[in-house]
Amino acid sequence: MNIAKLARPEIQALHAYEAAEQVDDTIRLNANESPLVNPNNRFRRPLNRYPEVRPQKLRASLARRFGCSAEKLLVTRGSSEAIDLLVRAFCRAGKDSVLTTSPSFSMYRHYAEVQGARLIEVASPAEDDFAIDVDAILEACDKNTRLIFICSPNNPTGTTLPHTKLEKLLRERGDRSAVVVDEAYVEYCESPSVIALLERFPNLLVLRTLSKALAFAGARCGAVVGPAAVVRMLSAVQSPYALATPVVECVEDALEEEQLALAESAVTEIIRERQRLMQAIEGFAFVRKVWPSDANFFLIEVEDVREVLHRCEAHRVLLRYFGAPLASCIRISVGSEADNNQLLRALETVKES
Ligand code: PMP
Repeated sequence: MNIAKLARPEIQALHAYEAAEQVDDTIRLNANESPLVNPNNRFRRPLNRYPEVRPQKLRASLARRFGCSAEKLLVTRGSSEAIDLLVRAFCRAGKDSVLTTSPSFSMYRHYAEVQGARLIEVASPAEDDFAIDVDAILEACDKNTRLIFICSPNNPTGTTLPHTKLEKLLRERGDRSAVVVDEAYVEYCESPSVIALLERFPNLLVLRTLSKALAFAGARCGAVVGPAAVVRMLSAVQSPYALATPVVECVEDALEEEQLALAESAVTEIIRERQRLMQAIEGFAFVRKVWPSDANFFLIEVEDVREVLHRCEAHRVLLRYFGAPLASCIRISVGSEADNNQLLRALETVKES
C-alpha cells in the first residue's frame, strides 16, 4: 500500500525545488548571497548564507527522539504547517474531503477551507465524555475522504483515542484515506505515541510539535512522521529553506540530553499542577463538571460562562471560550503554580446565579 497515491496527481508528479549546491569548504558564488557576515550575527552559523534546504542534523535528532528513521520525518514550522502541507497535497479543491471530529482543533477546518476541500465533522458528544466514535467516522467517510484528522489527546476536550480503536480505523480505511493522528499533547498523556504503529499501518501519519512539552512555541518547529514516499512528496511542497538558521540552532540545543531532561521534569510539574487545579476547581459550587484530561489543559462546564470569564479578566487571567457545541464550557490551560493560584483567586470571586 502506498498512501502517496491518494495525493493530487500534480503533487505526485512534483519535483523538489533545485536549490544552489551547498558544499563545506568551498567558495559559494552560486546562490546570490552576500559574502559579508552581518555584524549583528549572534548565531553559530553565518546568517549571510542560506540555511540548508532541509535541516538534516535536526531531522536526525527529531527522528531519534520520536523513534523513527529520518526518511520518515519532515521537519515543519510547527505542526500547523504540517496540517497545511497535508491538506494541500492530498485534497483536490471542490472534490476531496477532510474529516475531523467535533469539537476539535480548528486548524483542520481552516486549512480545508483555504484549500477548498469539503469538511466532514463527526460529533464526539459531551454525553459520551467526548469519546471519539470510530464507527461514526467510518460511516461518515465519503468516496473522496482523503484525510482523517484524529487529535489525540484532543484539543479542547483532553480525550485520547485508545490504540485499539485507532487500529480499527486504520484497518477499515486501508488505502482509501490517510489517517493523521495529531499528537501535539502526547507527552502529557499516559498512553504512548502511536508512532510505533507506523510499521504496521502504511496509511498512518503522525504530527508532533515542540510547542507544548518542549516549551518552544515561539521557535515554530514540529514534524510530520509517516511513510517515506509521503514525506518526500510533502517535502517537495514545503518552501525551500523553511526552517531559519536561528530556529535550527536553538532547537538543536533544546534537543541535547540535559535540556530534554529539564523539559521532562517540566511536564511532570504541569501534570501535578493539572491535578491540583482540577481538584480545586471541582470544589466551586458554580462548576457543573470538570472533564478528565490527558493534556496540559482541561475543560469545565459552568453555570454562567460570562460571569466566570468576566471575573477572570478582572484578575487579568485569560481563559478560552469556544461557543457551540461547548456553549457552557471553558478551556483552561495549566499555568505555573503562581498563575494557577491567581486563577483560583479569580474564581473565588465568581457570583453564583
Ligand atoms: N495541533 C493541536 C491539537 C494544537 O492544539 C496545536 C496548537 N494549539 C497545534 C497542532 C499547532 O501547534 P504548532 O503549530 O505550534 O505546532
